[in-house]
Amino acid sequence: MLGLMQNQPLLISSLIDFAERHHGGGEIVSRRVEGDIHRYTYKDVASRSRQVANALDAMKLAFSDRVATLAWNGYRHLELYFGVSGSGRVLHTLNPRLHPEQIAWIVNHAEDQVLCFDTTFVPIIQAIHKHLTTVKHFVALCDADKLPADSGIPGLQSYEAWIGQQPDTYRWPEFDENSASSMCYTSGTTGNPKAALYSHRSTMLHAFAGALPDALNMSARDAVLPVVPMFHVNAWGLPYSAAMTGCKMVFPGPAMDGKSIFELIESEKVSFAAGVPTVWQMMLSHMAANDLTFSTLKRTVIGGSACPPAMITAFNDQYGVEVLHAWGMTEMSPLGTVCTLKNKHQALSSEDKMKVRLKQGRAIFGVDMKIVDPDGKEQPWDGKAFGDLLVKGPWIIADYFKAEGGSPLVDGWFPTGDVATIDPDGYMQITDRSKDVIKSGGEWISSIDVENIAVAHPAVAMAACIGVKHPKWDERPIIAVVRKPGATVTREELLAFYEGKIAKWQVPDDVVFVDAIPLGGTGKMQKTKLREQLKDYVLPGI
Ligand code: ADP
Repeated sequence: MLGLMQNQPLLISSLIDFAERHHGGGEIVSRRVEGDIHRYTYKDVASRSRQVANALDAMKLAFSDRVATLAWNGYRHLELYFGVSGSGRVLHTLNPRLHPEQIAWIVNHAEDQVLCFDTTFVPIIQAIHKHLTTVKHFVALCDADKLPADSGIPGLQSYEAWIGQQPDTYRWPEFDENSASSMCYTSGTTGNPKAALYSHRSTMLHAFAGALPDALNMSARDAVLPVVPMFHVNAWGLPYSAAMTGCKMVFPGPAMDGKSIFELIESEKVSFAAGVPTVWQMMLSHMAANDLTFSTLKRTVIGGSACPPAMITAFNDQYGVEVLHAWGMTEMSPLGTVCTLKNKHQALSSEDKMKVRLKQGRAIFGVDMKIVDPDGKEQPWDGKAFGDLLVKGPWIIADYFKAEGGSPLVDGWFPTGDVATIDPDGYMQITDRSKDVIKSGGEWISSIDVENIAVAHPAVAMAACIGVKHPKWDERPIIAVVRKPGATVTREELLAFYEGKIAKWQVPDDVVFVDAIPLGGTGKMQKTKLREQLKDYVLPGI
C-alpha cells in the first residue's frame, strides 16, 4: 500500500519560490567586482532568476545542458544558481584558481554550452577561449557599459543586457528530482580532475540537513556570510539552506582579505560565517593587529582542512564566537560531520570540551560512516582504533561524471581517502589524508596533531608536517613552519614546545622555516608540492 501524500519532486526552483513568497523582503548584500556594495531582496533574486531561465530558453539550451560560471560570491552568481538549475540545466561552477589549461580541459570535459564570468577573469577567458570546443555563448557578469572593449572573446555579451531583455515571469518546469542540477570538479592533485554531479534531490536533502540545529543551525534570524566560494562545492550548500530558511545573505565578492571580511561582518551585522582555516587566519591576524572585536558574529563553520585548536580558542575565548568544526568533501555535497557538543559534554572543563571540539564531529542525519582496516574489517568506535573512513548517504557520490574505471564505491560505501577514529559518542576525528599518513617504526603519526601544536605557538602562522625517509624508522616527521611577520622562534624553542603535548616519538625530528607553504585552489596546504620543494632535504645526523 502506498502512502496517500502528495508526490512532489524535490526541486531547487521550489527554494527560490519559497524565499520570494515567505521572505521576499529578506536582504541579499554583495560586495561587487566593481568595488561598491549592492543590496536587494529575495524577491529580486527570484524575478531575475526567472529572467536567467528565459534567457537560457532563448538560447535554445536543452534540458541538462551545462552552464558554467567563473565567478566570485555575489548576487548574479546566486541568480545563476537558481535560474540555471531551476530551468533544468546544470550549473557548472569553475574554480578560477586552477591553471587556465586545466580550466579549459574541465570546460571541454563537462561540455559546457554557456560560460558566465566575472570581469576579473577576462584574462583567463582570453587565454583559453580558442581551446573551448563546446562553449557557444560567453557572458560577462556586468552592466552593458562595463563590457570589456576589444576583448577578442567571440560574441561576448553583458549579463545585464542578456537577461534584461527577458520577461521576469516563468513557469519553473517540473521533472524527475533525480535529474542533475549542478556539478563541481575535484581539484585533481593526481591525474585529471573528476566531477561530482549533484541532483535536485541530493541538493535539497543536503539543504534540509545542513540547516538543522546540530548542523549549521540556520534560521530567518541569521545573516550568513559564505566566505567559502560558490565555486567550492556550492559554497557548502549555504545558498540553498539560506533560501530554505530565509536568512539574510552577505557575499564578499573578490575581497577575501582579513580587513575586508571583518568590515563586511561588522557593517552587515553578520551572525554566521563559513570558510576554510586559511581565510580565518588572515582575519584573526588583522583583528589582533588592530585590537578589534566582533559585535554581531555568533558562530562560524570551519572546514575544508583541520581547524587548529589555537583558532577555536581565539574565536571562542577572545571573541565569544562558537566554532563549528565540520568535515566533508566535494563528493559529499559536501557536509558529512559537524562538531556540536551533546548534553553530557556541558559539564566538562573547558580543556576537556576542547578535546571534543577539535574532532571533526558527528555525522549529520543522512550520512552513515564507518572505519575499516586494510582488509575491510570494520574497526570499533572507541576513539582509539583508526582506519579508512567510508561513508554513504543520499547526497554522497555514486559515480563520477563520465567515470572511467567504474564506480568508486566499495560494497555501496564511498572510500573518502581519509584516515580517522570514531569515539563511542560518534565523534569522528581525522588523523590524516591516507596519502599524508606518516609511518614511523610501524606506528602512525598524525600530521594534523603535529601541526596543531606548532600553530598553537604564538610565533607560528602556518605549519605543515610531512614524513621524510629514515633508514631505521622508515619515515620521520618534520615540520615546515612559516613564522608570523616580525615574530621569532628558533628550531630548539619550537621542538621544546612539543614537550608533554604528544608522545616523544611523535615529536618532529626537525623544523624547516619556509617563507610560504604552497596552497591549492581551495586554500588547502599542498603537501605534494611541499615534498617536492624539500626533496633534497636530509634529516639531521643522517
Ligand atoms: P572540500 O571541497 O569540501 O574541501 P575536497 O573534496 O576539496 O572538499 O576535500 C575533501 C578533503 O578535505 C577531505 O577528504 C579531508 O581530507 C579534508 N578535510 C575537509 N574538512 C576537513 C576537516 N575539518 N579536518 C580535516 N580535513 C578536512
